[in-house]
Amino acid sequence: MIIAERKPIDEIYAMIKPFDKVLIVGCGGCVTVCLTGGERSVEVLAEQLRLKDNIEGGSHTFTECTITRQCDAEYVETIRSQAAEADVLLSMACGVGVNYMTELLGDSITLPAMDTKCLAANIRPGEWSERCAACGACMLEQTGGICPIARCSKSLMNGPCGGTQDGKCEVNPDIDCAWMKIVERMEKLGRIDELTEVTPPRDWSTGRHGGPRGMVVAEAVMDEDPEGEEN
Ligand code: SF4
Ligand code: SF4
Repeated sequence: MIIAERKPIDEIYAMIKPFDKVLIVGCGGCVTVCLTGGERSVEVLAEQLRLKDNIEGGSHTFTECTITRQCDAEYVETIRSQAAEADVLLSMACGVGVNYMTELLGDSITLPAMDTKCLAANIRPGEWSERCAACGACMLEQTGGICPIARCSKSLMNGPCGGTQDGKCEVNPDIDCAWMKIVERMEKLGRIDELTEVTPPRDWSTGRHGGPRGMVVAEAVMDEDPEGEEN
C-alpha cells in the first residue's frame, strides 16, 4: 500500500492562509488503512486548523468530506459541487490523489496536506516499512524475493557492499542489511551460487524516464462510446 504522513499543522496553515473557504478532503484508501488520511484524520485536522485559526485571529471556514478514493474519477466526481463552493481543497490523500483531483476538478485548487512516503508493508500494528520502489522491472526472482532497490540503502544491484556489520546496514545501523538477507535467503534456497553472477547496472530508461508510467488491463477497459461497445 501507499503510505503518507500528515504535514505539520504550521505548514498546512501557511498553505491555506491566503484562502477563505477550505474544504478538507479525506481518502478512504491506503491513507485510511495507515491511519493518516481517512475520515477521523480529517476531523482531527479540521479541529486543529480551527484552533490555529482562532489563535492567529483568522476567519477561515473549514468544511470536511471523505471520499472512497481520490485516485478514482467516479468518486472525485461526487464532490464536484462541494469543491466549486470552496476557495481551496486540502487533500489528505497521497500525491496521486492531489494530482488527480487537480486534473479532474480543474477550476479548483488542490493543496497537499500529506507527505507521500513509499510503498510499504504493515510489519506490526502501527508500523509500516518500505518493500518496493515501483522500479518497473522486478528482479525479485534473482534475489530470493527480497528487494535490493527498496531495502538496500544504496539500492545496489550486487552486494553486500562491504560495510555490513553484524547483519546491519552501514548507512543505517537500525536496519538489516538487505544484501545479507538476500545471501541468507539464497543459501536457504540452495541457490547461493547464482549470486556469483554479476548483475549489470540497471537501465533506468525502462523505468522512470519518459513521463508518467502506467498500465492498461484490457479486460477492464470500457468503451466510452456506446456505439462501439462490444457485448
Ligand atoms: S525489484 Fe524491487 S522495486 Fe522493482 S518492482 Fe521488484 S520489489 Fe519493486
Ligand atoms: S550495508 Fe547492506 S543494505 Fe547497507 S548499503 Fe551496504 S549492501 Fe546495502
